[in-house]
Amino acid sequence: MMPKTTLTDGSPVTPDHREIDPATGMQKAYVVLSAEERAKGFVRPVRQSYRHLTCGVVTTMGLALAETYARNPAFYSGTFCAGCGSHFPVGADGQFVWAGTDEKVGS
Ligand SMILES: [Zn+2]
Repeated sequence: MMPKTTLTDGSPVTPDHREIDPATGMQKAYVVLSAEERAKGFVRPVRQSYRHLTCGVVTTMGLALAETYARNPAFYSGTFCAGCGSHFPVGADGQFVWAGTDEKVGS
């Protein structure tokens, strides 16, 4: 049985992956659905850029993260803003929309 989640590079999830790198404000690593899970199909388009409503800055993420959102829009509770250098909530009441749309990330 293959694990359902991995880190973005396909390696096993580590206990310390949520540690924040003080230089970037980003986590040490991010969890995604495994390639096998993502291959089962998407319920949303695969979109890699989102805009933080608070600051207006667009952040672009890697394909494995984007495909995880497309497979399971509710997978994440928050995401990183490159403008603010920190993480904020996603979802229907969250702070992010997909770039060029009014559609909330994580909904
Ligand atoms: Zn921001």
